[in-house]
Amino acid sequence: MKEIKDSCFNEFDPNALSVSDALQAVLKSVKSQKKFEYVKLKNSLNRILSRNIKSEINVPNYNNSAMDGYAVYVKSTVEVNTEFRCIGESYAGNPFKKNVKNNEAVKVMTGGMIPKGCNAVIMKELVIKNDQFIKVKSKVFKNQNIRFIGEDIKKSQVVLNKGREISEIDLGILASLGIATVPVLRRPRIGFISTGDELVSITKKLKTSQVYDSNRYLLHGLLKNYPISIKDYGVVKDKLPLIEKKFKKASSECDVLITTGGVSVGDADYVKDVLHRLGKVNFWKIAVKPGRPLAFGKINKCLFFGLPGNPVSVVVTFNLFVSNAINKLVGKNNDHTLALEAELLTDLKKRKGRKEYKRGILINKKNKLYVDQSGKQGSNILSSVKDANCYIELHEDMDILKKGAQVRVLPFRLMSEFYEQ
Ligand code: AMP
Ligand code: MG
Repeated sequence: MKEIKDSCFNEFDPNALSVSDALQAVLKSVKSQKKFEYVKLKNSLNRILSRNIKSEINVPNYNNSAMDGYAVYVKSTVEVNTEFRCIGESYAGNPFKKNVKNNEAVKVMTGGMIPKGCNAVIMKELVIKNDQFIKVKSKVFKNQNIRFIGEDIKKSQVVLNKGREISEIDLGILASLGIATVPVLRRPRIGFISTGDELVSITKKLKTSQVYDSNRYLLHGLLKNYPISIKDYGVVKDKLPLIEKKFKKASSECDVLITTGGVSVGDADYVKDVLHRLGKVNFWKIAVKPGRPLAFGKINKCLFFGLPGNPVSVVVTFNLFVSNAINKLVGKNNDHTLALEAELLTDLKKRKGRKEYKRGILINKKNKLYVDQSGKQGSNILSSVKDANCYIELHEDMDILKKGAQVRVLPFRLMSEFYEQ
């Protein structure tokens, strides 16, 4: 991997990597998990399938009724007022086992097996019942109201693919196939550390010139939904030997180590020096705002992400780089970011030469999408992310954007928090 020295830090830097080049370099160094284990179905939620799942049965397993009604035989159609004689009942789990002749009917419940000789179900509400006989009130068609064997899933069909993150729907699907234990990829371990002399625990009283360590909580939240195990290594002061000791221990226990703070060019920024001493470092300036300096590398087999300290930069660099790396690491496939076009509700300014991810509020007004900035955009202002439901992605060559312009937005969530006005 090309190493880029942190030579100059002026705003315009021809050596700064583009977001896509940096992401490619990150992904190149990530090896996907191959080790697998079997877990109970309930515990497989959000885990990654280690192999294709083939169905050993048909779902449904037998032809059954989609309605409460009467099963009959129909050559092609049956006319109004035709009569059938009722000869029995078929319940879900309790079938009618005899043969049914052409002018006979069997009362059948939803999910009840279609008796031999029948090929249509008439809705209960569409017959007139008279003693042992039913008279149909509307035309009946062959195959109507029948759920056919294998209609949902066919025997031997690949139902779920390797690399799929198991969803709540998949739990239902797997259960419908009678699969009680599921082969899933093992969870890699990801650790995180905050660096900074100014940081104090949220349980302590804050003195002037101190800052509560919010990044570890942020990272905990960001990491929680991945199929990984996470370990919080606490805070380390800006002292080279302390940082070195902590990184050594954490990297020996984790597949990925994420740190925040101390990656810039300040006098107390030791993260990349320590990374140099312990492993391989690629220190990057990335043509992106926020989140420009990023230390990426490896300590032995452990991947290392040294994220900037500012909370907004943590979120953005996590979303751009770390999350993609984790998805590859855990063996997940098909993770696509949804991008939409929306009309700007405000003027926006940015510098040319770098990508910007402004925090935005996407709204849907009369089936048209609009987006506004979500408050102040400084990389220390986490409220801009709290109030946002999307990024506004502005490309390198853009500078001034006028209200009314079309821009690309990347929604954070899909179904929830999508404001309608
Ligand atoms: P640094 O990258 O270490 O220069 O930090 C940049 C800014 O982020 C400084 O204002 C830090 O106080 C702040 N910061 C760094 N780490 C944290 C953290 N864990 N929680 C909250 N703020 C932080
Ligand atoms: Mg610092």
